[in-house]
Amino acid sequence: MIPILNELEENKKSCESGCNSIPEGFIEVPNLFNERIDEKLDFMRKKTTEMGYRFVGKHSAIKVCNWTKESIRGKNVCYKNKFYGIESNQCVQMTPVMFFCSMNCRHCWRNFDYILPRDKEEWDNPIDVLNGCIEAQIEILQGFYGNPNADKQKLDAAMQPKHVAISLSGEPTMYPYLPEFIDEIKKREMTAYLVSNGTYPDMVEKLIDHQPTNLYISFYGTTPEMYKKTAVPMTKDFWENVNKSLALLGKFDCNTVVRLTLSKGLNFTDPEGYARIIEKSGTKFIEVKGFMAVGGSRKSMQYSDMPLHDEIQEFAAKIESNSSYRIVNEKKDSRVVLLARDGGSRLEAPEDV
Ligand code: SF4
Repeated sequence: MIPILNELEENKKSCESGCNSIPEGFIEVPNLFNERIDEKLDFMRKKTTEMGYRFVGKHSAIKVCNWTKESIRGKNVCYKNKFYGIESNQCVQMTPVMFFCSMNCRHCWRNFDYILPRDKEEWDNPIDVLNGCIEAQIEILQGFYGNPNADKQKLDAAMQPKHVAISLSGEPTMYPYLPEFIDEIKKREMTAYLVSNGTYPDMVEKLIDHQPTNLYISFYGTTPEMYKKTAVPMTKDFWENVNKSLALLGKFDCNTVVRLTLSKGLNFTDPEGYARIIEKSGTKFIEVKGFMAVGGSRKSMQYSDMPLHDEIQEFAAKIESNSSYRIVNEKKDSRVVLLARDGGSRLEAPEDV
């Protein structure tokens, strides 16, 4: 077993002070750690623990999503519930690579001053990572039994998670055991949502034989320059690699989604270009989503950079009129519009919520 750090006093404290909400702040990592990566990782681990993240082993973490809590309180659910039928109260939001990413996106609400994994990185076993994440989630949610506003039925169901969203932080295709991790989730008859920035096409290709339930590739610009400005990539072949990953989407049987996170002044432009590039990818769905100024993204972005929902609708309509994708759903409070190839015969969108 790998250790779950829930027993630490600092974890308990942060939980009492309202853990698991979207972090209000961001981490300022002192420059002195730039050359001392192990110390930098320890520092970031401590800071994010205070924000309500729970670490599982050496490099994985969970954080109970706000939508999970909203769902248990019977108030609202995530747009994934509306679009794909994922029950928010039974969803574990996790990452196998808390501080590793190949980008430092300006819109990233984690904004943890990501680093690339080093050769010496030691990787935890995927079964232990999954067990640890589920255990940590259940332990945190048990606190809701003392909450008079919790829906008891939803809370009981939450004790048996059915979905794993591999999306919390970092770039999960850097975890070398990702295929085995996904296989383990599916073996337990849970769904696996994987969100990747597409910079590791070799791993995306491996996943053709280890398919998640939904595979997302985030796409941040129609030219390398727009991409660079928005996503601040750390690897030089980012444009070729992201495009290679997009081109693989047609080989998957699972739900494939290209997600656009759009911010004014950066990449909220050229819908025709997005339509042209995405059309070639063979993805089944496109999510057109407005950037939200929450968490660490506020370090470099303004509220005024957030597109309004009607602007997102307009942008999605332009993609629709320049492609074979059709608008099939939307969720206003998440500022997201869903398009499906040819109207999406595979899509079974639940009732509006
Ligand atoms: S790719 Fe994802 S995790 Fe990495 S910086 Fe961008 S938004 Fe954040």
